Amino acid sequence: MTSSAAAASASIPARPVAAGSKARLTVHLDAIADNWRALAAKAPTAEAAAVVKADAYGTGLAPAATALHEAGARTFFVAQAGEGAALRETLGPGPAIYVFNGYMPDDAPAFRGTDLRPVLSSPFQVEAWLAARDDIRPTSGPGLHIESGINRLGFTAAELDALRADPPEGLDLTLVMSHLANADEPANSMNARQRGAFLGRSELASRIAPGARRSLAATGGTLLGAPFHFDLVRPGVGLYGGEPFVDARHVVTLMVPFLQVREIPAGESVGYGATWTARRASRIGVLPIGYADGLHRLSKDFDVYVNGRPAPVAGRVSMDMITVDLTDIPEPSPGDFAEILGPNQNVDRLAAASGTTGYEVLTGLGARYLRTYEKAGA
Ligand SMILES: *Cc1c(COP(=O)(O)O)cnc(C)c1O
Repeated sequence: MTSSAAAASASIPARPVAAGSKARLTVHLDAIADNWRALAAKAPTAEAAAVVKADAYGTGLAPAATALHEAGARTFFVAQAGEGAALRETLGPGPAIYVFNGYMPDDAPAFRGTDLRPVLSSPFQVEAWLAARDDIRPTSGPGLHIESGINRLGFTAAELDALRADPPEGLDLTLVMSHLANADEPANSMNARQRGAFLGRSELASRIAPGARRSLAATGGTLLGAPFHFDLVRPGVGLYGGEPFVDARHVVTLMVPFLQVREIPAGESVGYGATWTARRASRIGVLPIGYADGLHRLSKDFDVYVNGRPAPVAGRVSMDMITVDLTDIPEPSPGDFAEILGPNQNVDRLAAASGTTGYEVLTGLGARYLRTYEKAGA
């Protein structure tokens, strides 16, 4: 037992002010739909698709994709074939669903009967896809991923030449795409370099993909303007309220009830490692949310908001709880919640306090929340 744990028993007994035991995560589906419309309006000459990989960036695949479909999205992207099969189950026949990771032989079960379109990214994948055709009997043509500078996935110039020299019969490409490495930095010269490479290579690809549409832009590329839009833009993070779409509507609200509020005398410490010591008599709120819920790297400089007033995190984040210093604000009433994400701070603010990105905050949201999906008017 640490000295602080022993000393804590000497402090004034805690009192519960709980409105419940569970943190409440609310996903505003109307905001997702509005963000999609706003991004689509920035690329009026292109189709706006929607990227819903990783459980729609942690917000929930089925409700988010349904809201996006209702808003008008007709082309969707996932990362993995299994995500695509789940999405087909949700959307039913009709919408185009592309799989960024392409096709690998062990993906066959997910592709059977689901009408998914792999974005083929290597000669190996093209061969594997063609070899699987009799089994999968695809009804839609795949996409082709072209490398343009990010060096993750995609055909190199030499591989593309080889494909053109000996074009496989009936490949029937419907999309030729690439991905930008620095689209969140408009001034970065790599954007224009990658665009140039994509322009040239997709021109070459058009010989073997006459009907295919071209796509280069994710959220960042959509905001870079018309030269980056081509036929189809594929925003992800901006739909869910994250940078670089700074004008996005806020999508996720995270409210946490107080398990306890306790008064401690000056000199007492709070939490593991006794890293926070009260320099005055302090009021400490205990919130049931911790690193197992996605707050793993939260820094000390993070505030929660109680009735609109900031209260700093005090001490280390535990697995299941955090402690906050309420000394400078009115004591919470029974039923009050602490806001972690909401009108007072968005995913990017939380990301900054965690030394990470909005993408990681969203996809790291845990499974233990009481989740609610809200639509306009509901
Ligand atoms: C994730 C992803 C996107 C969406 O990117 P955002 O930055 O979230 O808009 C688009 N294209 C590819 C290839 C991706 O992997």
